[in-house]
Amino acid sequence: MKRPADSPFRFRGKRPDEYALPDLNPHMKLHYELVPPVVVAEEAPNFKGRWGEAFPDPSLPLHLEIGPGNGFYLAGMAGRHPEFNWLGIEIRFKRVVLVAKKILGAEVQNARIARYDAWQLDDLFGPGELGGLHINFPDPWKREINAKHRLICPALVSWAAKTLKPGAEVRLKSDHRPNLERFVKGAEGLPFEVVDFRDDVAKNGSPWPDDLVTNYQSKFIARDEPVYAALLRRTGA
Ligand code: SAH
Repeated sequence: MKRPADSPFRFRGKRPDEYALPDLNPHMKLHYELVPPVVVAEEAPNFKGRWGEAFPDPSLPLHLEIGPGNGFYLAGMAGRHPEFNWLGIEIRFKRVVLVAKKILGAEVQNARIARYDAWQLDDLFGPGELGGLHINFPDPWKREINAKHRLICPALVSWAAKTLKPGAEVRLKSDHRPNLERFVKGAEGLPFEVVDFRDDVAKNGSPWPDDLVTNYQSKFIARDEPVYAALLRRTGA
């Protein structure tokens, strides 16, 4: 996947001594002090094909959350599902720190947060390395002029087909229905089945039994705006 050149986030997977002004962002400094559960950008690609080694129990299937934000979902799911290893990929230093603190506060051993760019997932995972994928409220980029910034795009869906094991679930939630439709459309002709699609999770329930309301989701609930959810499964043997 290729990050649009005029993306609002700058991603630099540099070493601390390579930053011209390392003290400018206090969260940058702090995130180095929270290793583990933080995996810094300059280390993350070293785990490609062997993410198990980043966790106390390397044998557990790996679930990935892209853009965990404040980490409530990631830390919560790690607590509810100790039978999986949970990895978040988040680009912003401040949010990486928030997620790390949530993981530490929840006292879960099976969760890690990597500071990395979701447009560069090929750096991080080999084929069939993931046992599950979770994306909650990706930046919607509603205007057509910003279409190239949308993370849920055909390249992401083909990356997911390649990187998820057969049987693995994709769980998506968004306030913006077209976001989820784009995943479903992109999955046509790829080894995915659409298991469920819900138009209003608050009214109709979520497609999976163990949902956790994320930080963004609670804002939409407070405004009485619908939240959409899609459940897909990677097919094949
Ligand atoms: N999942 C959270 C936050 C949703 S907001 C919730 O539901 O509450 C979208 C999140 O994606 C933000 O935390 C943002 O920093 C992160 N994000 C945006 N672009 C990203 C990228 N290229 N790589 C990794 N994370 C990204």
